[in-house]
Amino acid sequence: MAFKQLDIIEPILKAVAAEGYTIPTPIQQQAIPLVLQRKDLLGCAQTGTGKTAAFAIPILQILHNQKPLAPGIKVLILTPTRELAIQINESFAAYGKHTGIRHTVIFGGVSQLNQTYALKRGTDVLIATPGRLLDLMTQGYIRLDQLQIFVLDEADRMLDMGFIHDVKKVIAKLPAKRQTLFFSATMPPEIQKLASVLLTHPAKVEVTPPSSTVDKIDQRLYFVGKMEKPELLLHLLANKEIKTALVFTRTKHGADKVVKILQRHNIRAAAIHGNKSQNARQGALTDFKNSTLRVLVATDIAARGIDIDELAHVINYDLPNVPETYVHRIGRTGRAGNAGMAISFCSREERDELKNIQKLIAKTIPVVHEHPFVANAMVAAPVVAARTQTSFKSQRNFNGQSRQGGHNFRSSRRTQRAK
Ligand code: AMP
Repeated sequence: MAFKQLDIIEPILKAVAAEGYTIPTPIQQQAIPLVLQRKDLLGCAQTGTGKTAAFAIPILQILHNQKPLAPGIKVLILTPTRELAIQINESFAAYGKHTGIRHTVIFGGVSQLNQTYALKRGTDVLIATPGRLLDLMTQGYIRLDQLQIFVLDEADRMLDMGFIHDVKKVIAKLPAKRQTLFFSATMPPEIQKLASVLLTHPAKVEVTPPSSTVDKIDQRLYFVGKMEKPELLLHLLANKEIKTALVFTRTKHGADKVVKILQRHNIRAAAIHGNKSQNARQGALTDFKNSTLRVLVATDIAARGIDIDELAHVINYDLPNVPETYVHRIGRTGRAGNAGMAISFCSREERDELKNIQKLIAKTIPVVHEHPFVANAMVAAPVVAARTQTSFKSQRNFNGQSRQGGHNFRSSRRTQRAK
């Protein structure tokens, strides 16, 4: 199915194509028509399924069709974290770039000045975290009497993070006549109760959570000193079984540095990030797809929208700050039933990131203990190693997992194939 078949208007189709999307994800196929029909929606889906576009695209279309737009906030999207809020705002910018729909993001932890300026200029769509939204509502910067659509994103995480009271306070201020889109990865009783209060005859859409995709991916963790990451990467790439790899770094500068090192060792590599022109990015992507490039080094923002079939290896050179990003990154491998491997480097400085990722995916990533840089790595990461052991104990297949963790890269692959 193509996006066109979902009756999406030309300005949005054009933007979606520019993002490199060709086929709507399952949640998009299900949700977009329902939202366009102005139904309430109960979406059981996690980040990584394409759920942002599943609500952003039809919302942009609904607003575009109402042009010229009356003043006032017409859409409110409530999301638990600032990172998610920023990502959603970027999605509206990307999909809505030919629509002229105005969108603004507000979140806590930063000065409110720029946010209040933006609100004064006016916005059609407001993306917010609950605390800052309530703050600015109390201060009189935000009125929601013109609201048509309310999106509650990651409801279960709102509960986990203790935001549910704030969410309820916001809900109490919304006009009763509105369309509500409710997303949650899980449906604990309290969330079910909230959904039943908020939604009127909702249509339900459910997609297999990415954790099940993640389970299919062969994940490996290498503890390594920060300074030795380049050497570890070269060591891994000496394995010719890795025909192509998508390598993630946290910063643009980091991406460029990795590319330089790889090129110095005659490995065909290029970086894609925000400082590269659209042409350079597209060229690198094409070269990577046809295997002219062996390694593509990307930052998370630049990698958004990259759709490569049969990507066998993802290497997290740096662990992401936002745990969901790990799921996004590794979800790019192992698609459509293909085998995939996700290799992550973890330095001493990244212990907290690792903890958060393992909490999110609810599993301990098997550690590769045998590699040339392991001595420094063990000094670098004793706390993680200890924690990893503890959490292994709580897993049912403690023995199996622990043994797999003890293999080196090559022997693990043999074990995999023999299975
Ligand atoms: P989300 O679940 O909304 O956080 O999206 C996960 C990732 O999938 C993001 O990086 C999106 O840019 C990307 N994405 C969303 N829809 C599509 C699509 N139809 N085709 C390819 N990538 C997509």
